[in-house]
Amino acid sequence: MDPIEFQTTFDTDQYIFSEGDPGDCAYIIDTGMVEVSLEKDGRRHVMATLTKGDILGEMAIIDRQPRSASARAIVPTVVTAIPLDYISQKIEQSDPTVRMFLRLAMARYRDMNARLGQVFDELSHLQEDATVGTYASTTMELKSVMSQFEEMQKRIDTAVSSPSTAANPAMFGEQTLRETKNQIVEEKLLSTALAQKQFRLHYQPIIDLASNTIAGCEALVRWNHPSGELLGPLHFIPLAESSGMIVDLGYWIAEEACQFQSRLCNDFQQEIAVSINLSARQFEDQFLVATLGDIMDRTGARRDLVKFEITESLLMDNPELATQSLQQLKDAGVKLAIDDFGTGYSSFSYLHRFPFDTLKIDRVFVSAMARSEKSNQIVRSLVNLSHDLGMDVVAEGIESEREAEIMREYQTGYGQGFYFARPVTEAEFVKLLSQPRIDLAG
Ligand code: C2E
Ligand code: CA
Ligand code: CA
Repeated sequence: MDPIEFQTTFDTDQYIFSEGDPGDCAYIIDTGMVEVSLEKDGRRHVMATLTKGDILGEMAIIDRQPRSASARAIVPTVVTAIPLDYISQKIEQSDPTVRMFLRLAMARYRDMNARLGQVFDELSHLQEDATVGTYASTTMELKSVMSQFEEMQKRIDTAVSSPSTAANPAMFGEQTLRETKNQIVEEKLLSTALAQKQFRLHYQPIIDLASNTIAGCEALVRWNHPSGELLGPLHFIPLAESSGMIVDLGYWIAEEACQFQSRLCNDFQQEIAVSINLSARQFEDQFLVATLGDIMDRTGARRDLVKFEITESLLMDNPELATQSLQQLKDAGVKLAIDDFGTGYSSFSYLHRFPFDTLKIDRVFVSAMARSEKSNQIVRSLVNLSHDLGMDVVAEGIESEREAEIMREYQTGYGQGFYFARPVTEAEFVKLLSQPRIDLAG
């Protein structure tokens, strides 16, 4: 979807929304000016005049109530829409404490608004009957409501203050607004990319170091961007993870990779394992294990030749969930690998608690071996310890004959890296398979 679709232009006097309309969008004003008003006793009362960078219509969205006021452009105005579905999804995905806080703040805000409304009603009656005693008590009530309101505002400010908002006296700095808008547009582009099948999988061979033959491959996702560029995962996986889109994208990746695994066995008579990366975020989906099982059944993939790679962050952030899901995957008959070992908290003390078949030594250790004797020792110990724990080892990021040689010497078992082959298309991978030994890319 073109980013421009999120922006709408309103002419002078055109209504953005009216009282009673369903609250389906909040808006950020890009340029122009908007008057927010309320109809009461046949008269229109102006409540606020908003300009560039201000937000409107958010109450009805968070509250899920119809619009309680009208908004009209008073000069030609451009706004960026933030759809209800988008915000609802964000709120559901946010930390439970933030969610609770938001609900609490909204409940208080609503309550305070109702009380302010009552006080204003009383004040307008007072103008009519001018009773001094009532006037004094109403003024006191008004003061108390106002001071409570200010107190709450202060608390919200403290709770939401971040370096960017603290530095800017306005509630939302330019930067926050820009980031919000970019995120909305990019997430939309990403989900469109999935719907329009713009993602591709490449496969990087995993080599049996003793024989220099292909033992398996790792599926690595790319985005065939409409601009013509083939984007690597580091350009979009972080956003797919933070937006939750990785769940759907992950299923698409698993489906593609399992289809390929099935073809390798059935069409090419090759017993080649296919490794699939799983992000920690995907484990938040309670149907993960069941859905992956369905995908393997549907595609006819050989479960013992499907391997899921996960990183340490999953084990560290949520050990209970990890233990449970990993065991379920293991019970489903697939293989498991711990990826990027050595880059995170890397502790062998917890490794034996999880049912891994393979340990992948991160490329930073492999590339540091030439420079540091310590790295050599670490790699050697890692290999030995892994084997003692019954795991295979894959050395990642082998870029030279020297590194391959050392890994062979340490009996590492398997290697992966540009020295052997880069990630390639499915057709190119099949061609590599037809060679008796891997042609070295150099
Ligand atoms: P990773 O799982 O560690 O994947 C290996 C990365 O190292 C790949 O980068 C690969 O191209 C690169 N690589 C392989 N050999 C060499 C080498 O000899 N030298 C150097 N410098 N690099 C080498 P890529 O494809 O850019 O993927 C980066 C990361 O993106 C992956 O790291 C993985 O964390 C993530 N990723 C890739 N595909 C997927 C996916 O399908 N799902 C998820 N959740 N994450 C993925
Ligand atoms: Ca990996
Ligand atoms: Ca890795």
